[in-house]
Amino acid sequence: LHIGYVTNGVHFPTWIATSLRRLYARYFGDGFEGHTYNIPAWQKVHNIPDEELWNERMYLKNRLIKHIRRRFSDPAQVRLDSPRQMIQIIEGIKPDVLTIGFARRFATYKRAYLLFTNLDRLSAIVNNKERPVQFIFAGKAHPNDKPGQDLIKRIVEVAAMPQFVGKILFLQNYDMELARRMVQGVDVWLNTPTRPLEASGTSGEKCVMNGVMQFSVLDGWWVEGYKEGAGWMLPMERTFADQHYQDELDAEMIYNTIEEQIAPLYYQREQDGIPHAWVSSVKRCVADIASNFTTNRMLIDYEDRFYNKLAARKQAITEGGYKLAREIAAWKRKVSAAWDQVRVVDVQRVKIDKEAVFVGETYRFEVKLDIANLRPEDIGVEMVIAKQIVGGQSVNVTRTVGLERSKAEGSLVTYTLDYTPSETGTYDVALRVFPQNEHLPHRMDFALVKWA
Ligand SMILES: *Cc1c(COP(=O)(O)O)cnc(C)c1O
Repeated sequence: LHIGYVTNGVHFPTWIATSLRRLYARYFGDGFEGHTYNIPAWQKVHNIPDEELWNERMYLKNRLIKHIRRRFSDPAQVRLDSPRQMIQIIEGIKPDVLTIGFARRFATYKRAYLLFTNLDRLSAIVNNKERPVQFIFAGKAHPNDKPGQDLIKRIVEVAAMPQFVGKILFLQNYDMELARRMVQGVDVWLNTPTRPLEASGTSGEKCVMNGVMQFSVLDGWWVEGYKEGAGWMLPMERTFADQHYQDELDAEMIYNTIEEQIAPLYYQREQDGIPHAWVSSVKRCVADIASNFTTNRMLIDYEDRFYNKLAARKQAITEGGYKLAREIAAWKRKVSAAWDQVRVVDVQRVKIDKEAVFVGETYRFEVKLDIANLRPEDIGVEMVIAKQIVGGQSVNVTRTVGLERSKAEGSLVTYTLDYTPSETGTYDVALRVFPQNEHLPHRMDFALVKWA
């Protein structure tokens, strides 16, 4: 199919923290002004001293924590069980603890529940004495999405359990303002969609430009974004067809990754108190990932892949009072009218099903057509090679090779190919005839075919 795609991106000025933007502008310099974010310029994040970048990250996290404490201090903004719970939350949430964020629509395919599959393991992670972890959740479910609302209810329940108070938080009233604070302030962004249902997961793109590392299923944008050493992933392939088993496996892998990889990297401090290995991953995340997921890059892709081509095509087809458009339409009418009279007169080919075919040897294929009143150049003939077709499975075409026009006598035209197979294997081969015109942008735009 000629349908292509553009990976989306997020609007840098909207989602970047102002202070971080200033820091980037100071070090990235040329190529990082106005609304053009020259991708190579992002590599200069490596010139920022670790301490400066780390302090900036900690400043943003502190701002988020302060905001959360303010929210939980105001009974008008949150529903709590008791004043005691309020104090436990305000004192429990800490800026020096590894903070993992999860905020999005609570559509069930996003599996917000996954983290709560094994509460004992989760408790061990958040209550770890040397390497504690805290989780901040936010999000809304659609008014008609009861299962989505039940997920939120479950998170609020878990967050109120004694072992989780002040360590797992659910923030109400998720909106762009809260989203901005979260994608700028947490250390790690978690996304756990059911494969392959995630269209993109743009909140992760907002995070990486702020130096927040992403931990996600390889689905949506992360399939393209993930780079080893600059974030974490759960593999793309499903291990189990049964979703229940898959959930259980993914949950175990999430716990293991947090305990064995994320927390150790975050808490590995050098003598100056800075986690240099972590900061180095943050830099790679900004330089090699974030740079590719801005709206700016997205628009350039739209231009290069589609809009500019379309503009040129429009220009060509409308010029001179739609001259080309009229020619194509007339040609299509002529070919459609003649197509039933086009006949395959003779086919010469190796009896592939009877004889062995050898790699490196040359075999001749010949198709003789009666092209009725069409011109020889109106017709193309090609050989289609597919992996051996097994009943019920989709056809896997590996190559198509065009035949050359070799002889014309009146309306009888011969097309020839001398073909030398270069790979071993079991293949199915067929010859087909199609209308051909250099002004058709895609073969599918005029879908007539005859199999020889
Ligand atoms: C970015 C954003 C989203 C979309 O996030 P996904 O990760 O794509 O699900 C939803 N809501 C708000 C408020 C956002 O800022």
